[in-house]
Amino acid sequence: MRVFLSLGGNLGNTQEIFEQSYPAIEKKVGKILQKSSLYRTAAWGLKDQADFINQVMLLESALNPHEILTEIQAIEKQFGRERLVTWGPRTLDLDILFIENLKIQNEKLQIPHPHIHNRKFILIPMHEIAKEFEHPELKKTISELMLEATDDFSVNLIPNP
Ligand code: AMP
Repeated sequence: MRVFLSLGGNLGNTQEIFEQSYPAIEKKVGKILQKSSLYRTAAWGLKDQADFINQVMLLESALNPHEILTEIQAIEKQFGRERLVTWGPRTLDLDILFIENLKIQNEKLQIPHPHIHNRKFILIPMHEIAKEFEHPELKKTISELMLEATDDFSVNLIPNP
């Protein structure tokens, strides 16, 4: 199944942590078909936090949705735990955005992820790799959702070195 995953982090060397997570994601979840660029989002809420870095990727996975959740949580733990003492637990945040056009609503898992449409730091990288993808609940494409998004997040492309 085609799965869109979001990666985020603001503690430690996030770009390096993302790089290190790719082989783990490929081994545990499935083949990475596409990756967006990295984007930098000014921290919201607490102002003295480091900027967040975000990325969206498309995977081909043979796992079922709950297995995917279990595996991404194990990967989060693997990278969080490594640097727990120095950096705290939120070095790598992985969320399932979409799994094909599935709709899942239970205690553990909401698919599509409930905050996609009002988070530019998800919409902008998603738009880079799949602007025509239609949100299965809102029935709007990522392009349409981008035009409607009213959040104040300033999201900046990180140029490739
Ligand atoms: P967070 O700490 O913000 O990454 O949230 C993790 C919690 O969100 C976990 O307990 C998951 O069971 C739950 N969750 C619900 N829907 C999703 C989703 N689409 N992707 C990842 N986690 C999810």
